[in-house]
Amino acid sequence: MRFLIMLLGSIEAGGTKFVCAVGDENFNEIDKKIIPTTTPAETLGASIEFFKQYPELTALSIASFGPIDTNPASEKYGYITDTPKVKWQNCNFVGTMTDALNIPVYWTTDVNGSVYGEYVNLKDKYDNPALVYYTLGTGVGAGAIQDGRFIGGISTPEMGHVRLQRHPVDLNFTGICPYHHDCLEGLVAGPTFKARLGISGEDVPDNHPVWDIMAYYVAQAAVQVTAILRPQKIIFGGSVSRPAFLERVRKQFAMLWNDYLPVGSLDEYIVNPSVPGNGSATLGNFALAKHLTAKAKSHQTDSEL
Ligand code: ZN
Repeated sequence: MRFLIMLLGSIEAGGTKFVCAVGDENFNEIDKKIIPTTTPAETLGASIEFFKQYPELTALSIASFGPIDTNPASEKYGYITDTPKVKWQNCNFVGTMTDALNIPVYWTTDVNGSVYGEYVNLKDKYDNPALVYYTLGTGVGAGAIQDGRFIGGISTPEMGHVRLQRHPVDLNFTGICPYHHDCLEGLVAGPTFKARLGISGEDVPDNHPVWDIMAYYVAQAAVQVTAILRPQKIIFGGSVSRPAFLERVRKQFAMLWNDYLPVGSLDEYIVNPSVPGNGSATLGNFALAKHLTAKAKSHQTDSEL
């Protein structure tokens, strides 16, 4: 008897690196390769080379930096669109991977990949939880999941660009988002450390007062998303989301939310990712690729009937 092997592909496509991984149907990682984000030809070429080692691959899921086009009805579906990374503008990511690998490809944002991984990891413990996952890194964005589905309308949410009230001692800082200045990304993304203090984030100690300013902004975003979506948990990943920082966010959140409605223990509500080693997006991708494999198989069966 011959056993059919199912292997699942994952790309976490970030602005500085791609994390390519292959996993089995139980989401155990079998192989992984980190590829620097240079040009589409180089980076996608190296990714294709990596996945071609695995002819048993049944589907690939890509969680990408953006902005990306996720509207299946659009001509540019599967493209990275008008990103500030000029070489990647109008890059037909999905088309390139589909042509090279000839397998179904799932396509979503980096933060949706991460929130899905957290959902997979937490769904049994919390009974189908509604979750929001923020990445606070070079850029800021969030993905949300409710009843196992991503939240979004004509496109994916842009929760990094909500407008916020300024902290009284931060009025002179010009936020780094060229579109809004006073939005979450403009006020708390990693490069704001350099812009405010002249030093990069990793050199800023946990007890620096700038963290209180940052916490005030992140807590406002948490209050807004609490009011709009009423999630079970808000998860903060990315380089800015240090555990000591989240302590400050919880304190500010408590003051701003003011016990309006119960959210449970703040230690359980405002949290770092549950998947270790920055692995949320890879786990999410494996699960999304598995769904896609099942869907492709059921179509095959339909057409055979
Ligand atoms: Zn903005």
